[in-house]
Amino acid sequence: MKITGGCHCGAIRFEAELEAAKVGICHCTDCQSLSASAYRLIAMVPSAGFVLTGTPKEYVKTGDSGARRVQAFCGTCGSGLYATNADGPREVYNLRAGAIDQRRDLMPAFEVFCTSALPWVAPVTGATRFDKMPG
Ligand SMILES: [Zn+2]
Ligand SMILES: [Zn+2]
Repeated sequence: MKITGGCHCGAIRFEAELEAAKVGICHCTDCQSLSASAYRLIAMVPSAGFVLTGTPKEYVKTGDSGARRVQAFCGTCGSGLYATNADGPREVYNLRAGAIDQRRDLMPAFEVFCTSALPWVAPVTGATRFDKMPG
């Protein structure tokens, strides 16, 4: 499906092509910290078809795996927008699904890093659960 979205203040907008199976929840501790919430809802889209208007700020974090990841957000309103490769080609963008206009139509198909999920978060019906990130 074609999706559109952007930050709260409207300075940054994006559009992309999204497959339903590419929507999920990440319970990793970095996502908890960076989203300032219990978990992060992500939508993985290919760079082909991803169109960005405006210039996000980018923060680069190094994950437990050693991989460097760009975390993009609006420098004015602070809304999270996407994560992508810091080194090498940006082939996939993990959109912050709460920034997608059609978020009511998106259902999580998977949950990853379930070992660090907060204890009161119940499994999502129909979503496949993984202890870590599947290979
Ligand atoms: Zn903004
Ligand atoms: Zn995560």
